[in-house]
Amino acid sequence: MRVLVVEDEYKIANSIKKGLEQETFAVDVAYEGIEGYDLAASEKYDVIVLDLMLPGMEGVEICKKLRAGKNYTPILMLTAKGALHDKVLGLNAGADDYLVKPFAFEELLARIRALSRRPQEVVNAKLEVSDLELDSINVEVTRGRKKIDLSKREFALLEYLMRNSGKIMSKDQIIAHVWDYDADILPNTVEVYIGYLRKKIDGAFPKNKPLIQTVRGFGYRLGN
Ligand code: CA
Repeated sequence: MRVLVVEDEYKIANSIKKGLEQETFAVDVAYEGIEGYDLAASEKYDVIVLDLMLPGMEGVEICKKLRAGKNYTPILMLTAKGALHDKVLGLNAGADDYLVKPFAFEELLARIRALSRRPQEVVNAKLEVSDLELDSINVEVTRGRKKIDLSKREFALLEYLMRNSGKIMSKDQIIAHVWDYDADILPNTVEVYIGYLRKKIDGAFPKNKPLIQTVRGFGYRLGN
């Protein structure tokens, strides 16, 4: 497996490279945006790890240019903590997933593995669970083709649950992935937002199978 890392912080770039090489991956590093784009456009990679803020050409720009050039190599965007807007920006530009800095190497590895397993044709940021569909490029959610309006936070929460469908996600995991680092989180914030989502996803569709399940004492699960 071959990975391109585009990251201008030497320390982060080099530690990712070292870690991935220990996993027997082939790793190229670009410390600057234009070089990163040139490599991404001319070489064959299984996954690209792309920092958002880069000298030369920014991550979002690189992403857009690659997708416009019909290059669908899975892209994992690295974003700064506390920047929810950046995640939306990255996904809108065609990134497949994002990871907030600082992150544990194990998590990076798991995401890269997951991305590399996706067939190229379906890397289009569309998620499906039962009759529920989420399009992270157009920021659209439908159930049985009926459009559902969600706030930004509800969308982020649903996307996280859909990306992990079938698994029980704890409140702590949800908070870490859906809320900004600096956000004010009250003990019942997750419950409140799950409540909002449940109303829109399940409550509004009484004839369909409920998708959001509460697993008492553990967390929440979407789908089976
Ligand atoms: Ca940077």
